[in-house]
Amino acid sequence: MPMLSSLPADSSRTAHPAASAALPSYLQADKLGPWGIYLQQVDRVVPYLGHLARWAETLRRPKRALIVDVPIQLDNGTVAHFEGYRVQHNTSRGPGKGGVRFHQDVTLSEVMALAAWMSIKNAAVNVPYGGAKGGIRVDPKTLSLGELERMTRRYTSEIGIIIGPTKDIPAPDVNTNEQIMAWMMDTYSMNEGATATGVVTGKPIDLGGSLGRRDATGRGVYTVGVEAARHIDLDISTARVAVQGFGNVGGVAARLFAQAGARVVAVQDHGGTIYRQAGLDVPSLLAHVAAAGTVAGFAQAEVLPDAQFWDVDCDILIPAALEQQITAANAGRIRARLVIEGANGPTTPEADDILQDRGVLVLPDVIANAGGVTVSYFEWVQDFSSFFWSEDEINARLVRIMKEAFAGVWEVAQDHGVTLRTATFIVACKRILHARELRGLYP
Ligand code: GLU
Repeated sequence: MPMLSSLPADSSRTAHPAASAALPSYLQADKLGPWGIYLQQVDRVVPYLGHLARWAETLRRPKRALIVDVPIQLDNGTVAHFEGYRVQHNTSRGPGKGGVRFHQDVTLSEVMALAAWMSIKNAAVNVPYGGAKGGIRVDPKTLSLGELERMTRRYTSEIGIIIGPTKDIPAPDVNTNEQIMAWMMDTYSMNEGATATGVVTGKPIDLGGSLGRRDATGRGVYTVGVEAARHIDLDISTARVAVQGFGNVGGVAARLFAQAGARVVAVQDHGGTIYRQAGLDVPSLLAHVAAAGTVAGFAQAEVLPDAQFWDVDCDILIPAALEQQITAANAGRIRARLVIEGANGPTTPEADDILQDRGVLVLPDVIANAGGVTVSYFEWVQDFSSFFWSEDEINARLVRIMKEAFAGVWEVAQDHGVTLRTATFIVACKRILHARELRGLYP
């Protein structure tokens, strides 16, 4: 699509010869990867955007993408270079916001997609943020604690030119945690010459972190999961649940579903797949994972071959690990009635279509896992006011926001006869593009 065609320009004017007709190469890349999937999701929403569709090109281009070299001294005295990224997809509704991931498969196009999904997610739950994401291509398990700290600090310093409490606020994501947020906060503050707690969220409680943040993503998954289940007459207290990923999202969601009476029958993580028809003892499994780092080796369960995870007889499936797990290859085998996306981007568009044809309800990432960033927003507000709320108050506000967002999305899905993913994109993209239109183009 020509670059200028979707702008509200005088149609009698032709595009300026200096304007590129095609998307920049880095935006075209990776058609089958997360960025390509995101672009297909945008294509599906454009017909529902009404007059705002003329701004849709905004959604297909990150506002800003920074690639940084992260050199550190290893413990053995040699120097290693890592590649880091920070992408601000959109800031029409507020500062950039989104996590930082340390993983060996991180690429620029993956971070672009994750940043874009943050724009959608933040608008879907109506927190006053744009979308951003960061990452370093590294397997953090190969680093010592000292090396991890040096890498985190150098990365923070390199992206320091674009982050800040009113510009772009990082948070934890895959393989990053409260300690890493503390180092990021300290590094930014040292460079600024003033302690700036609001530059990151997901910090330790004693450094301006928020009560309830650690469990917030899983609690949000559970909260909207219960709402969705109610709409399809699925009784949580007797439901069988399968969870992929047993970290901060999957582990907490499993705990809350089990507390509500559900049977968590299968769990898969990077170490393997375990199964127990009568339901796994989730508190014991959480204790095992805290000690062993994986569900593998848990005594009170059968071991399944990894590929069989998708065949498990269950009512609710919660992918809470990485992208592109539910694909055309396995979507036809899934037996759940409800898929709740704890991870970002776990389902490909082809798999989405297969699940829809088979009557499986998919509660998409951009609403299902928005609880984390919602409590990040509470943390940021508390840091600015230096006034901290009780955990009960935080959880009550989280539940209210998640339920309201879900109800709005459900209504749009019914009105337009679309999937919950497209409905969430409709709600979110309208908010983003309306803000874009109100602000107008500068200059
Ligand atoms: N990394 C989380 C997500 O993907 C949380 C982001 C945040 O709290 O800013 O939603």
